[in-house]
Amino acid sequence: MARIPEDLVDSIRSQADIVDIVSDYVTLRRSGKNYLGLCPFHDEKTPSFSVNPERQIFHCFGCGKGGNVFTFLMEHENVTFVEAVHHIARRLNITIPDTNREHEAGSEAESLARVTRFAALFFHERLLEAGRDSIVRRYAEQRGLSEQTIKSFGLGYAPDSWNDLLNAARKQGIGTDLLVKAGLAKAGEQRTYDAFRKRLIFPIQAPSGRVVGFGGRALSDEDQPKYLNSPESPIYRKSQVLYGLYQARESLRRQGRALVVEGYMDLLGLHEQGIQGVVALCGTALTREQARLLARYGQQAYLVYDSDQAGVRATWRAIEPLVESGLWTRVVRLPENHDPDSYVREHGPDGFMKLVEQADSPADFMGYHANLQASGERDEVFRTLAGLIRNTSNLVHREMYREEAERRFPALQGLLASELRHPGRSGRSGRSDGQSGSRGPGTDPRDRQAVPGAAARDGGERVERDLVQLMLSDRTIAELVEGQLEPHDFKYPLYRRIVEKCLAGLGDGGSYDLAGLIDTFGDDEAVRVITELINTSDSGVNLEQRARDHIVRIKQKRLKESMARLMEQIKQMETGGRSDELNDAMATYMELKQQEKVLLQSARGG
Ligand SMILES: [Zn+2]
Repeated sequence: MARIPEDLVDSIRSQADIVDIVSDYVTLRRSGKNYLGLCPFHDEKTPSFSVNPERQIFHCFGCGKGGNVFTFLMEHENVTFVEAVHHIARRLNITIPDTNREHEAGSEAESLARVTRFAALFFHERLLEAGRDSIVRRYAEQRGLSEQTIKSFGLGYAPDSWNDLLNAARKQGIGTDLLVKAGLAKAGEQRTYDAFRKRLIFPIQAPSGRVVGFGGRALSDEDQPKYLNSPESPIYRKSQVLYGLYQARESLRRQGRALVVEGYMDLLGLHEQGIQGVVALCGTALTREQARLLARYGQQAYLVYDSDQAGVRATWRAIEPLVESGLWTRVVRLPENHDPDSYVREHGPDGFMKLVEQADSPADFMGYHANLQASGERDEVFRTLAGLIRNTSNLVHREMYREEAERRFPALQGLLASELRHPGRSGRSGRSDGQSGSRGPGTDPRDRQAVPGAAARDGGERVERDLVQLMLSDRTIAELVEGQLEPHDFKYPLYRRIVEKCLAGLGDGGSYDLAGLIDTFGDDEAVRVITELINTSDSGVNLEQRARDHIVRIKQKRLKESMARLMEQIKQMETGGRSDELNDAMATYMELKQQEKVLLQSARGG
C-alpha cells in the first residue's frame, strides 16, 4: 500500500474517536475522565486498561502498553501503520486518494476543505481592508470587536455584492459547483450568486482548526435573516462541531470548565472581556455528539443561554446530553432581557463570573421554571430528573445530582432511591448501565500504582520525569520550559527526546496534539512512557509553580556540574603552573557561581 499524505493522516487521527474504536474490541466503561476495561494485551481479571478520550490515547497500567488509535489497531490486529490508517479511514467514510492517480483531484472532502479555506481567507481579507467608515467596521466597533478578536477568530466580511466571491474563486480555478456544495453560492434559475452578502462572517472550525462552514450576521436591520448559516456538507456536520472550540480548547483543558452559549456574538463578547473556555452553538440545539466532544476537553459545562422563553426551552433540552456525557452540568441564570454579551458589557467580567459561580443545579433550574402547582408539569419534572440521574455516566455525579434533586423536591426521596437501586431496569442501555455500583471511586488503578517503579528512581530522574509530565499535560508549561531550558538540559536520553519533540510540536503555533506526537516516535519505550505520564498526571494545584521549581533545580544541577568540571581543571592547572589559563578558569568559575546565586534568588521570588 502506498504512503498516505501526512496531513491526511493527521486529519484521520483527529476525526477518529479512540473510545469508539477501542470499544469495537474491549468493553469500556467510564471512570472519571477516562474509560476502563480489561486489557486485550495481557491476561487480567480487574481492569487496568485505560483510555483517555481527552488526549485520545490508551495506556495499560498492568503491562505498560500504550499509544494512540493507530498504535492500538497495529498491536491488536497485527497490521502495519498504513493498514491501521486505512481501517480508521473506512470507518469514518474518509476516502484516501489512490496515489497512482495523485494528479487527479483528491476526495470531495478535500476539495471542499480547500474551498472553505479559500473563502475564509477571502472574507477575512475583505474585513481587514475595509475602511473605518465601512458598514462592517462600524458594526464591529459598535459590538466592541477588537482587532485581536477579529484575527484570532478569523472573522470576515462578505461584501455587498452578488459575485465577488464567485469571481475570486474562478480566478483560483475553483468551480462554481464546489462553492454551491459548500453552501457559499446558490444556484438560481438565471445565474449562480454568492450566498453570503453584506454580512459579518464567522468561520466555523472543526476541533482540528479546519474551516468547515460559515455563519453570517446581517449588518443592517432590514436584511433577513439576522443570522445565516451554511448548510451541512460532506465536511460540515453541525451536530459534531462547536463554534470557538478550536480557540478554547487549551483553556478548557486547563480550567476544566466550558461555558456554553447560544450564539457567535455571545461568545465573542465574552472573549473580549477576557472570559475563556467558551463555546457556542451554530444555530442548532445541543446534540449528544457535541456534548461528548466537549467532554473530551473538560469536566464541567455551564449553560449560559438567553433569559427569554426560547433560551429557557433550549437550556432545558441541552441539560440531558451534557449530563449523560458525564459533564458536571450547571445552568447560569441571567436576569430578564439579558444575553451573555449584554450582561458582561454591563457588569464586567467579574460580575459575569459571579453569576457563573452562583449557577443553578439542573433540579433548581427546573424547579424555577416549571409550574409545580400543575400536577402534569410537576410529574414531567420528576420524570425528567429521574431519567437524568439514571443516565448519568459518572457515579459520583449521579449521587450529587440525586442529593440536589431531593433537596429541591423532598417528594422525590423514595422515588429516586429505588430508581437507583435498580439502575437500567427502566433506563436506556448505555455504556454504564448494568455495571454501576460494581466499582467505587477508590478503585481506580491510578490510586494503586500512581508512579510505577517510583522507588527505583533517583532524584534527578524524578525531577526530569515530573517536568516532562507537566509539559505533556499542559501546553502553557511546555511553553514555559521552551523559554527556560534546552532539550540537552535533560540528562536522561528518553526525556530529552520527548522534550525535543514536544517543543518542536509547539513551534507551528497550532494544536498541541499528543496523539499526533506519539506517531513521531518509532519505538515502544517512548510511547509507553508518554502514555503512562499522561495517564498518571494529576490536575493538582500550582502546576506552574511546580514546573518552575523543577526548572530551577535542573538549571542549578547543570551549573553545579559545570562548576565541578571546571574545578577539576583548575586543580590540574594549579599543579601545572599555567597562571593565565588559571585566571580565566577562576573568572569563569566565579561567573557560574554568580549565575547560581541569581538563579536561586529569582526562584525565591527576589
Ligand atoms: Zn495490559
